[in-house]
Amino acid sequence: MRQTTTALIVCATAATAIASSAAAEGELNLYSSRHYDTDERLYSDFTEATGITINRIEGNADELIARMEAEGANSPADILLTVDTSRLERAKDAGVLQAIDSEVLEMRIPASLQDADNQWFGFSQRARIIFYDKSDVTEPPLTYVDLADPAYEGMVCHRSSTNVYSQTLVSAIIENHGADAATTWAQGFVNNFARDPQGGDTDQLRGLVSGECDISISNTYYFARALRKDVDGLNAEALANIGWVFPAQNAEGAHMNLSGGGVAANAPNRENAIKFLEYLASDQAQEYFSAGNDEYPAVAGVGISPSVATLGMFRPDSVDLSKVAKNVPAAQTIFNEVGWE
Ligand code: FE
Repeated sequence: MRQTTTALIVCATAATAIASSAAAEGELNLYSSRHYDTDERLYSDFTEATGITINRIEGNADELIARMEAEGANSPADILLTVDTSRLERAKDAGVLQAIDSEVLEMRIPASLQDADNQWFGFSQRARIIFYDKSDVTEPPLTYVDLADPAYEGMVCHRSSTNVYSQTLVSAIIENHGADAATTWAQGFVNNFARDPQGGDTDQLRGLVSGECDISISNTYYFARALRKDVDGLNAEALANIGWVFPAQNAEGAHMNLSGGGVAANAPNRENAIKFLEYLASDQAQEYFSAGNDEYPAVAGVGISPSVATLGMFRPDSVDLSKVAKNVPAAQTIFNEVGWE
């Protein structure tokens, strides 16, 4: 494969140091596309509890997967942590992960949030839900299906089809309703766009505040984070007039996406890698891992942060996410067919 030119951020230790000490005892080489400050505490607590030092390389998921492929058998990577099931599944398909046997993970992580072959496990979840401007929308859509209703023509904002959140959402609609219904839905949805797809989830929320959008779809954690702290002018005050709907509560439930990880195919420190994933499933780590980024814990019974609790209780879609990830190529076909940029 072609060598990718990447702009990876190297943290804690230089990449060269990782390569030269990859097989040393008491180490763990973590490739992560999560880059939240709160994850720091997670890593330092793990080191304190186990004596295992974490060397970390951060980058975007596709770069990290390409890097692991290029490094092949010599890869120092022990763990890949990333976001969204379709990326976890892409890593699996690329052969950069391996199956592991862990009673702890089997017991703690629900079956719907792990790969059937145990190559990846989800550690936190986000719901992809409907937000709307309360002064413009009196009858908000209650389901994903409703978002394609012509009643909402010119009102809806969403990000581009090149983004994994769009891909996984449509993949879930295919899994729940079939490819034909998903195509019809996507056509109606695109017809309702208020503007060309653009920006990230925070930009969809900003579109509501600016008035450019009446209805936006975003992952819960972007909203919860802005409630908790100012995100470049997006804050609790700016969002005061924004309502939200957990979709499909009388149907399949709210679409969830995952943050998760797996053990690298050629992990030099395999045992440490398994220990680390088991640690991520502990109550304490679940609290940091999820609350630190305003996400929902994967492990049942772990408390959620106040900002997330503000959104209220809901029924999540419990569709098997590894099945959903397999529909990404079919989703791509739909994007082309309906002209979702
Ligand atoms: Fe995100």
